[in-house]
Amino acid sequence: MSEQQPPRPLPAPDDATQGYWDAAKHGALAMQRCAACSHRRFPPRPMCPKCQSFESRFEPVSGRGRIYSFVVCHPPMLPAFLDRAPLAVVLVELEDDPALRIVGNLFDCDASAIEIGMEVEVCFEEVTPEVTLPQWRPRTS
Ligand code: ZN
Repeated sequence: MSEQQPPRPLPAPDDATQGYWDAAKHGALAMQRCAACSHRRFPPRPMCPKCQSFESRFEPVSGRGRIYSFVVCHPPMLPAFLDRAPLAVVLVELEDDPALRIVGNLFDCDASAIEIGMEVEVCFEEVTPEVTLPQWRPRTS
């Protein structure tokens, strides 16, 4: 069945998001920070929503957070994800700044054990030699 399964859709980095994907490839979760007013924002985008500056940089964050919300996907679902069902999709608020929320998959956890507020940490899934996705797992430290 997996031979007939279409490939997973992958991110297409652009000028605004390249720093995020480069950091993930090197095993770090990095957030974009405005160079003018220091406001952190996610998802990465060209302009600061607070001061409209186009200057920014990416800085690593702790990679720790809590589940703000989640959904567990069961078939029918997108064919590219069928082999991963049940697939836990979580919205994680970062310990560094709870205003920063990131969507990912939760690994190493039975779907029935997922709870709002659960402490998680980032992990990295190398999908291709070019693309590594930040994902999540229950916190171990
Ligand atoms: Zn700013």
